Amino acid sequence: MDELSAKGIYDTFLNKADKKFGQNFLFDEKINRKIVSVAGTLDGKNVVEIGPGPGGITLEILKQNIKKLYVVEFDARWAQVWRTLQPRFNEKLEVIECDALNFDLKSVSPDMVISNLPYNISTELLQKWLPEFHLCERYVLMFQKEVADRLCAAPRTKEYGRLSVLAQWKAKVSKAFDLDAGSFFPPPKVKSTVIKFEPFKKESIVGIEHYDEFSALLSDVFVHRRKMVSKFLKNFFAEPEKTLLSIGYDCKVRAEEISVSDYIRLFENYLFSDKAKAKS
Ligand code: SAM
Repeated sequence: MDELSAKGIYDTFLNKADKKFGQNFLFDEKINRKIVSVAGTLDGKNVVEIGPGPGGITLEILKQNIKKLYVVEFDARWAQVWRTLQPRFNEKLEVIECDALNFDLKSVSPDMVISNLPYNISTELLQKWLPEFHLCERYVLMFQKEVADRLCAAPRTKEYGRLSVLAQWKAKVSKAFDLDAGSFFPPPKVKSTVIKFEPFKKESIVGIEHYDEFSALLSDVFVHRRKMVSKFLKNFFAEPEKTLLSIGYDCKVRAEEISVSDYIRLFENYLFSDKAKAKS
């Protein structure tokens, strides 16, 4: 194989997609190029790709003027394929065979993360990264459309929830484009969406050291998204109604009606409260 392509790599080496690893491959070069272009310039950047599989996205990243690409692959057979191909790329490519859920991104200091994520672990992986999201400049990630809709959701929509607030607290979240199931091999049962995350700078994120508490507060209130929020803030505020009023909300407000910036203000109130001090 002189000229590498994802379809060529697939046909030559494995010719098999494994459901258990969420393998829905992208062979169309135009689509893979479009995904990588969402990240902007990769000049001199350290990039991580989760799950190279047959390498459609991998090859497009390697065409760029990057510093280094780390591919993290859990399927031993695909990891072996990339170890075989690695000498073609010298120092530019490093293959890491492991479960991305056990991989510490910090260990390779990436500037960018680009991936057509395995759907079975996509939200778990995002939640693993969110506490330290600011360590990376940009993430370009493919999700099933329903998860992508939740990530970008605005208040007063049925998709708006804990994950929307957590993601939009940490980053500017934007939809790049949708892909039909037919773009993948084998086609998944759902549509997919590429999302771009541009994390905010550490200094500008209120409560950055308190991810778990903010996440817990949001879990409490969104469990009953259509009920009065004040009933579910008792773990965080001695007088929830008063606190809500102080940020401009009626005591009858529901979880889905509070904007991301107001959840941040609410949380800031908590951080300065006696309850927070008592816990720390
Ligand atoms: N990047 C390829 C593409 O777009 O055609 C493959 C994408 S496929 C949706 C997901 C990839 O992630 C597969 O290569 C799969 O083996 C790999 N994978 C699945 N679970 C993983 C995990 N826990 N950690 C790392 N890689 C994983």
